[in-house]
Amino acid sequence: MFMKKDIADIAAKKEIAAKKEIGPATNFLQQIIEKDVAENKNGGRVSTRFPPEPNGYLHIGHAKSICLNFGLAEEFKGQCHLRFDDTNPETEETEYVESIKEDIRWLGFDWGKNLFYASDYFDQLYEFAEQLIRDGKAYVCSLNEDQVRQYRGDFTTPGKDSPYRQRPVGENLDLFRRMRAGEFDEGACTLRAKIDMKSPNMNMRDPLLYRIKKVAHHRTGGKWCIYPMYDYAHPLSDAVEGITHSICTLEFQDHRPFYDWCVENVRNLKSRPHQYEFARLNLTYLVMSKRKLLQLVKEGLVSGWDDPRMPTLSGMRRRGYRPEAIRLFAQRIGVAKAHQLIDIDIFESCVREDLDQAAHRVMAVLDPLKLVIENYPAGQSEEILAANHPKNPDWGSRRLTFSNELFIDQKDFMENPPPDFYRLAPGRQVRLRNAYVVTCHSVVRDGSGKITELRCVYDPVTRGGKPTADGKKVKGIIHWVSAKDSIEAEVRLYRRLFQVPDPESVPEGKTFRDNLNPHSLVVIPKARLEPGLRSASFNLRYQFERTGYFCLDSRDSNSHHLVFNQIVDLP
Ligand code: ATP
Ligand code: MG
Repeated sequence: MFMKKDIADIAAKKEIAAKKEIGPATNFLQQIIEKDVAENKNGGRVSTRFPPEPNGYLHIGHAKSICLNFGLAEEFKGQCHLRFDDTNPETEETEYVESIKEDIRWLGFDWGKNLFYASDYFDQLYEFAEQLIRDGKAYVCSLNEDQVRQYRGDFTTPGKDSPYRQRPVGENLDLFRRMRAGEFDEGACTLRAKIDMKSPNMNMRDPLLYRIKKVAHHRTGGKWCIYPMYDYAHPLSDAVEGITHSICTLEFQDHRPFYDWCVENVRNLKSRPHQYEFARLNLTYLVMSKRKLLQLVKEGLVSGWDDPRMPTLSGMRRRGYRPEAIRLFAQRIGVAKAHQLIDIDIFESCVREDLDQAAHRVMAVLDPLKLVIENYPAGQSEEILAANHPKNPDWGSRRLTFSNELFIDQKDFMENPPPDFYRLAPGRQVRLRNAYVVTCHSVVRDGSGKITELRCVYDPVTRGGKPTADGKKVKGIIHWVSAKDSIEAEVRLYRRLFQVPDPESVPEGKTFRDNLNPHSLVVIPKARLEPGLRSASFNLRYQFERTGYFCLDSRDSNSHHLVFNQIVDLP
């Protein structure tokens, strides 16, 4: 649900837009690292990491964390590790590991040799646990899950010590080894840190270190039937790898004391990493939790993880967003310490800014209406040159064929227009982009009265932007394609996937799915495009002039059936 602060965040939109001019100030993490380097902390070394759990595809929120972690490493000439935090065997899969790697590379970052898995450390983590037991800092607890919860207390009630808390070291070691050997059922016992059941921080009330899970792991197979908890594995993996700055999202702030406890109580670690928290990125009109995205995929509400409407990086890639746009966005929104809800408009304006300079200009008619020029000889044609980019003469131009039969967009004609309609109407003039001025004098209808054709005359002296013979000013310019030469393509238009700014806030009895926009995909089966797009490239982006930015759909488009995705409309 939106809070006052969120509204303020949306208001901060203007401020972010202003940063466009001056670039963002250094963020608090840059400042911390700068100071650490100046003080020669960790010998001046900077190591960060991006630690995804391979239980889904990456989304735009992860992209922010990737840009931040890899960006800081780059800036301070350090390194950023990619570490899969694979401590939950039930939900994790190799498919996700591969997609995550692909997405990070696509974003433009390289982990080099620094690819790791928490599961690489299962042996070490186990040894650390035995050390903690020997030091009297961990014990095997035989309370079941419900009892553990009851003993923990809550925010107002202090916890109670587990009756197993005083087990002697020898017994703990024996039990822990038997847990590992598979002698106990799931849930029969756990290994817990011995910290403080009365701590005001619930995370310090003897948190779990290990639980029994008789599940095969996607990398270690059947080797283990006990798995470390994320909160235990994470700081120790950081320390084993020599991470210096462990940057995570705000919800881990209360976990930091336990993070510190782990790296302070396990001996002989390579480094003493520190955890810093920043605000998770949230965007209006999107949901970002992997669990909810998975639900959309599983229930067939989208076509897959890479559906172009999804906020996943694979969806965004297929949609046609460029990694440059995502990096620009991550930089522009900066790094906040407090909850951050960003207006989707800011993201889209980054996408447009990037595409404006990167997209080839072409003409495409999404809803074709035939236009016949009566004073242009049938059978005759001429070539018209059209620039590929208005600000980039180096990109050259392309040749279009002009003749007496063209298509224009239905929306550029009105039979009874209001006075401020500067496009075509009976008795009115308009300029055809890159070509001539035409005047419509009549329409042709089919049996049902629908207009099927416009009859026009053209003014031969107006070629290439020249004024009309009578010197009249023609305000409107519209796009067109040749009726004979243009090619057919399917065009997919996308609207927001959710129809409300905050899809996750729902009244009792409803779910976020009820906020899906039923019109988020509009398919135009037969648009008409200029013929050069027959050899459109999967690597390029195109501006369909006056309409928006488009690219070939990497999954469904082929030389027999062209399919274009709308990336974003024009401002
Ligand atoms: P989700 O809540 O979407 O399931 P997660 O936090 O469980 O995400 P992880 O795979 O654990 O997903 O995330 C990897 C890293 O990405 C973590 O360090 C996490 O803090 C960061 N991250 C995840 N979501 C966001 C977000 N919305 N904004 C910024 N960073 C994020
Ligand atoms: Mg997580």
